[in-house]
Amino acid sequence: MRTNHDARRTDLLDRATLVLNRSWRPVHVTTVRRALVMVFREAARIVCPESLSTFTFGEWVRQPVVNEINAIRSPSVRVQAPEVVLLSHYDRVPCHEAPFTRRNLFLRDDFTCQYCGWRCTNNHLSVDHVLPRSRGGMTNWENCVIACVGCNARKADRTLKESGLRLLRAPARPRWTPYLTLRPSQRMDSWNHFAPDAKRRKA
Ligand SMILES: [Zn+2]
Repeated sequence: MRTNHDARRTDLLDRATLVLNRSWRPVHVTTVRRALVMVFREAARIVCPESLSTFTFGEWVRQPVVNEINAIRSPSVRVQAPEVVLLSHYDRVPCHEAPFTRRNLFLRDDFTCQYCGWRCTNNHLSVDHVLPRSRGGMTNWENCVIACVGCNARKADRTLKESGLRLLRAPARPRWTPYLTLRPSQRMDSWNHFAPDAKRRKA
């Protein structure tokens, strides 16, 4: 039987952990589970976001657990879930292009209608072609935005000018960041020390 405690521990192990390269630049986001494996194999060290001290697995286990909510317990160890890890060898910055997908488009526009600014769940939102497909509009980062059902219907098969609607901002290919695939609410506040754009956006 899965207890509440097991469920909470699973959630904690699946929580996001920021991965820094050897030069302390954010390169990736992984799960607590995978971060602990990397640290256990000495491919990374755990970073304390406040003191910026780094720890091996053995050293981390000996650290006092400051926040019980963040504690992973097993019969033999009780350890704080890491929020940031530092790779021991990797020094490069990955050069990724953000793939154009429906999900990434929702993330770029932060689940917000780009015409009226309504931020809501995705069942009220859809993808709108700024220049309609019937007029030769392309399906790409520069011509697609998230729009609410109401604005989408209002715009219909018209151009921006014809509809009188205005965009909150010009749609563009997003710069790749390690956080691209995370919803703002999944990001940890402690990451702000390492990358200002990791900041959670206000709901
Ligand atoms: Zn709208």
